[in-house]
Amino acid sequence: MKSQITNLYCPSCHKKFSHTVLINLCQCGLPLLVNYDLQQAKKTLTKDSLFKRINSMWRYNEVLPVLDSLNIVTLGEGMTPLQPSVTIGKKFGIEKLFFKDESMNPTGSFKARGLAMAVSKAKELGVEKIIIPTAGNAGSALAAYCARANIKCKVIMPESTPDAFAIDVLYHGGEVEKVSGSIKDAGARVHDLVDAENWFAVSTLKEPYRIEGKKTMGYELAEQLDFVLPDVIIYPTGGGTGLIGMWKAFDEMEQLGWIDSHRPKMVSVQSEGCAPIVKAFNDDADNAELWENPTTHAAGLRVPGAIGDFLILDAIRKSGGTALAVSEDAISDGTKDMSRLEGIFPAPEGGASLAAFYELVKSEFIKPSDTVVIFNTGSGYKYLDVLKERI
Ligand SMILES: *Cc1c(COP(=O)(O)O)cnc(C)c1O
Repeated sequence: MKSQITNLYCPSCHKKFSHTVLINLCQCGLPLLVNYDLQQAKKTLTKDSLFKRINSMWRYNEVLPVLDSLNIVTLGEGMTPLQPSVTIGKKFGIEKLFFKDESMNPTGSFKARGLAMAVSKAKELGVEKIIIPTAGNAGSALAAYCARANIKCKVIMPESTPDAFAIDVLYHGGEVEKVSGSIKDAGARVHDLVDAENWFAVSTLKEPYRIEGKKTMGYELAEQLDFVLPDVIIYPTGGGTGLIGMWKAFDEMEQLGWIDSHRPKMVSVQSEGCAPIVKAFNDDADNAELWENPTTHAAGLRVPGAIGDFLILDAIRKSGGTALAVSEDAISDGTKDMSRLEGIFPAPEGGASLAAFYELVKSEFIKPSDTVVIFNTGSGYKYLDVLKERI
């Protein structure tokens, strides 16, 4: 059951790198992804083998990058429930509607998956201090896993970030620094501190392992739907790690013999106040332009530029999916409906996914026979100061 990691590779210039040394980006400046020997993995990572495995994302060990299980830093992330809709699906005539409820992860969001993986791998490679720019949830998750791994951590966040995110970082013993502007400005500050103070940065897709944690959402969906992937996946997109990660997982699972070549239509949801991916999708562009003055109360979607933009756009297009922006009021309504009609108290980003679902049913992009998965990526409890203004 050991990791079958072979190397890192650049999906853009195709250069290969070793996984045994610490690295951030490819020499060409773009993200690196992880390769595995899937033919080897296939021998032990069978569908039947899953019954006996640990009930967390670490069950997919062969296709995860950590070599020595003693380096795994875990709080039980992953294997979140796939909740069938009780009301909204029936109301709109979509009988097979599900919510992948990522609010059930440690630290209240799916960022736990990526940061558990990044911290575990950093521990394996001897890292002693880690820094991150965040819109909120990534900082919380990093701080919790660093506390568990006894690694020093520093979190740079925009001033506008909801209070909970700085509070839990401080409780976990991390340092917090606030900057004016968006996560982009936090990223620039991280860049300066990395050089000045020798931190290891785990910014979204500027480090190869967070995505390996996030991709487990794709494996779980397959398992939870008896190895028939849904027709449509609705995903609130900031940096796009989850979308790119699931897309990678689907290819891996096909090579493992778990699924066929059918792929879900990948739908990327953003806010009208910050929609660089939607604009690029509509403009038929391969890359997204930087979004000026990003504003949205869904903090995780306030990402004006994503380094993995070309990977997000490629996955959306190859899947026959789409990208759409929803208004702040629609996000609020989605957040309320998911709470009121389904009993799930979502992060506003999850509310945005539900708002997009409504649009896609109206435009008939979603058909009554479709199996649809809406991602609720985080917990509403982290956003109480924002949500109380919008009751
Ligand atoms: C970070 C975050 C997102 C965006 O995720 P990406 O994979 O970076 O696109 C969405 N929702 C919540 C709650 C987040 O914390």
